[in-house]
Amino acid sequence: MNPLHDALFAPLAGSARPFLIHPDGRQITGAAFHARAARMAGALADAGVRPGARVAAQVAKSADALALYGAAVMAGAVFLPLNPAYTADEIAYFLADAGPAVFVVDPVRADALAPLAGSARLLTLGAGGEGSLARLAGAGAGPAAAAPAARGADDLAALLYTSGTTGRSKGAMLTQGNLLSNAEALAGLWGFSAGDVLLHALPIFHTHGLFVATNIALLTGGAMILMPAFDAAEALRLMPQATAMMGVPTFYTRLLDHPGLTREATAHMRLFVSGSAPLLAETHAAFRARTGHAILERYGMTETNMITSNPLDGDRRAGTVGLPLPGVEVRVTDAATGAPLDQGTTGMVEVRGPNVFAGYWQMPAKTAESFRADGFFITGDLGRFDADGYLEIVGREKDLIISGGLNVYPKEVEEVIDRLPGVRESAVIGVPHPDYGEAVVACVVPAGSAVLDPAAVIAGLEGRLARFKQPKAVVVLADLPRNSMGKVQKAGLRHDHRGLFGTR
Ligand code: AMP
Repeated sequence: MNPLHDALFAPLAGSARPFLIHPDGRQITGAAFHARAARMAGALADAGVRPGARVAAQVAKSADALALYGAAVMAGAVFLPLNPAYTADEIAYFLADAGPAVFVVDPVRADALAPLAGSARLLTLGAGGEGSLARLAGAGAGPAAAAPAARGADDLAALLYTSGTTGRSKGAMLTQGNLLSNAEALAGLWGFSAGDVLLHALPIFHTHGLFVATNIALLTGGAMILMPAFDAAEALRLMPQATAMMGVPTFYTRLLDHPGLTREATAHMRLFVSGSAPLLAETHAAFRARTGHAILERYGMTETNMITSNPLDGDRRAGTVGLPLPGVEVRVTDAATGAPLDQGTTGMVEVRGPNVFAGYWQMPAKTAESFRADGFFITGDLGRFDADGYLEIVGREKDLIISGGLNVYPKEVEEVIDRLPGVRESAVIGVPHPDYGEAVVACVVPAGSAVLDPAAVIAGLEGRLARFKQPKAVVVLADLPRNSMGKVQKAGLRHDHRGLFGTR
């Protein structure tokens, strides 16, 4: 038994249907993909990978990179994908922390990264099918296909490092059962079937592109068009061949900026999903007006897989992340005491279920403080339930601003600012202040060629927000800093503007 292999990869063996489609039209059948992954698994075993060993990979997005995920599952290994943008220093930390048996890198970076490999065996894999691992997995060459290693639902399948906005990046230990239960819940909820073709433009080192997108396609026997990265024009060109897309909010704002986004261009699509960062209600409304599609927003995190989703059939509420997934319990509590709060009250979002990870790699104390005694995981997100049970995410606990002893939820302020004329979007942060402790500061991006006057922005909030929530300063920026998953980097903004009120 190897639950992930049996449910996700085994059904591909012998399948003549396309599983992966390149943007240029080349196709890889399920059978070819499975055979490639199985031979890679053999190569990993030859390189010393035993069940439970870590396989780290810092490779470009490609069909072979996905086959390597399959190979790790077949070898019974713990897959550790790493963002290609990580620097050598960052990689050194992950390798030292995780102690992988094998480290797979792009051939062009092999020389630079070899000194960091330590006791890990270095293999190479390029996006164009080159590299030592690709050679070992070539038809007729090297090791025979390996039989899948025996694994159980509680065995680790992946180690995903969190983006580490506070303190050291932590390795989230995800079990086979975590990944499979979530894929099953989402596939059912979103109506995926073998007839679906998923437009895949997300990175595959993150839970969204690797697990949410890929595992659903694998589980339901559908196909994926594998784009190396998101590009609005290219996505629009490919949409007539696709039925669904999963994206971060930035995909949708970029599509809206493209004149080619029309009802006709999206007529073949049945579903657009958004997650990993908040989707503005205006983006939802604008996309619906242009295409007729209501983007389905869901919420989750590396440690928990997906937690809530708007419904496929029924009301997809803009500005909310929907209802708890089947089998997943979600509650909102007083962050300090853990006591459950009434519906409508903002507090800490906590989650329990088969989706929730097994803890942080070699950090028992961090793990212990992240869970309540009754097994609920403390997400660090602040939210509230509406009267119909839809969850609204109000922000991260660390983004909460306490100004003059009063709590200010940045999202509430951002929503009001975003409605002002001439404003495209905003990010509200807390900055040290000699009198208030923290002062509310709004970083605001103008819409198009609008010229924003900070004083006018503040004046525009008069009567719309309580005085203590109004920004003490407005900073006009050309863009908000975002990471590759579309998350606004508030820590960077706080750092850039920490001296605004003379305190450091
Ligand atoms: P990551 O572990 O990188 O997937 O980041 C997880 C975090 O992203 C969550 O804890 C939330 O703060 C945020 N997030 C994910 N999806 C959403 C969403 N739909 N709306 C608001 N925040 C989200």
